[in-house]
Amino acid sequence: MTDQSTPQAHRPDDLPTAIRHYIDGRFVDSVDGATFDVLDPVSNETYLQAAAGKQADVDAAVASARRAFTEGPWPRMLPRERSRVLHTIADLVESRDARLAELESFDSGLPITQALGQARRAAENFRFFADLIVAQADDTYKVPGRQINYVNRKPIGVAGLITPWNTPFMLESWKLAPALATGNTVVLKPAEFTPLSASLWAGIFEEAGLPQGVFNLVNGLGEEAGDALVKHPDVPLISFTGESSTGRLIFGNAAPHLKGLSMELGGKSPAVVFADADLDAAIDATIFGVFSLNGERCTAGSRILVERPVYDEFVERYAAQAKRVRVGYPHEKTTEVGALVHPEHFEKVMSYVELGRTEGRLVAGGGRPEGFETGNFVAPTVFADVKPDARIFQEEIFGPVVAITPFDTEAEALELANGVKYGLAAYVWTNDLKRAHNFSQAVEAGMVWLNSNNVRDLRTPFGGVKASGLGHEGGYRSIDFYTDQQAVHITLGKVHNPTFGKS
Ligand code: NAD
Repeated sequence: MTDQSTPQAHRPDDLPTAIRHYIDGRFVDSVDGATFDVLDPVSNETYLQAAAGKQADVDAAVASARRAFTEGPWPRMLPRERSRVLHTIADLVESRDARLAELESFDSGLPITQALGQARRAAENFRFFADLIVAQADDTYKVPGRQINYVNRKPIGVAGLITPWNTPFMLESWKLAPALATGNTVVLKPAEFTPLSASLWAGIFEEAGLPQGVFNLVNGLGEEAGDALVKHPDVPLISFTGESSTGRLIFGNAAPHLKGLSMELGGKSPAVVFADADLDAAIDATIFGVFSLNGERCTAGSRILVERPVYDEFVERYAAQAKRVRVGYPHEKTTEVGALVHPEHFEKVMSYVELGRTEGRLVAGGGRPEGFETGNFVAPTVFADVKPDARIFQEEIFGPVVAITPFDTEAEALELANGVKYGLAAYVWTNDLKRAHNFSQAVEAGMVWLNSNNVRDLRTPFGGVKASGLGHEGGYRSIDFYTDQQAVHITLGKVHNPTFGKS
């Protein structure tokens, strides 16, 4: 750490120096005693050791979750009883939002105000599914005089939850809440870059009255702990959020077991700005869309396509505003872009910044911001005139870097928007009603925001197409993923029974 960063960096009080697994209601070390280093992204110094789980730890966690599922009360409780526990979890998360945000911001480098928003969203996820399960209705079909059929919805068993390091606590809640609400038991494998906030779940769950063994947590590397979870025969469900390449690997590894898979993967989402758009709103939204959460956001609008008549004005105003975005220490309330999560990721993002100099016209940023000689700080970086075959147009950078490209016709805009392997989100800016709908419906993206920033009602489906994912979560779709829908058929009238082998 240099003199420059020392006075301004912040270290939360009472930081743990070690993080252990949580299995069957107890904090435990790895069976083989192994640990891995966890760094903070401002100093890049190791501040704690986390237990490095492997097969034996995953086996113990799955056995605990399996026992809680087959013998424990959780899957058999009334929805209202489970709902009460989930609401208490939401209350506890809300009451600790400031501490959660402080730890999350320290561990991940996210700006504190944004980490606070994510902590509240995590509470909201629990509240939402607590409400949803008590309102849950299932299908019944009547065949008059003959048959009645109904759906018996059942929890599936042990859900394996594997999560990434961007907004870790919130993304964990996204899986934990529906998996638990529906009566499953879980093993969570959080991202190795950011295990700190995940270690708080155990205490929150215990206090809220979640029965022992329902929640289990194994820390560790993806290729060890994550892999063991994916390949475990007693884990019928894997919900994964992470990179598309990891998703592909997990898909293959889960195939021999025919597991239920939910895949929320990477993105390179377009923001398409037509000349008739409200330019002020479009610029504000597209700045926020790629620089919020440090640009480490799966739905980041990291390619901006702008119609030629407003292109020059857009680029000029966009670059000027990007230069004003405040990079700072994650704990400062005024910070808009903090530090990237890890030096490895910082190197990756910086390599794209260097590449961008050869693939586009640099109009803002382009390296470390002034005054931040150490730590994983990247200035909001804008490249204009980027060609569609450029790597910075095609590949997910996952940092505060954006590519801007002009277009002349709606057809060209659509071709550019769809001309990547990803299909997570799209943002469309136009005041032409017909075009807005036609374009939105034609764009290859799981989610479209029209004249809007990324604001999502929890009832709506979340998911990507193409290399961005498989399956949908959100609202009832999450309930569907985490449950089996058994169809029960009952004869009411005469038995319909063709007789074979009649004498
Ligand atoms: P990652 O794929 O490297 O890791 C994600 C998780 O998978 C981690 O917990 C990791 O330990 C684990 N893992 C790695 N290899 C594994 C293996 N072989 N078997 C089992 N588990 C394994 O992703 P990341 O770098 O942590 O996260 C960033 C990525 O996540 C970006 O691509 C981003 O777009 C994506 N993301 C997607 C969404 C979405 O909802 N679509 C949301 C957030 C992040």
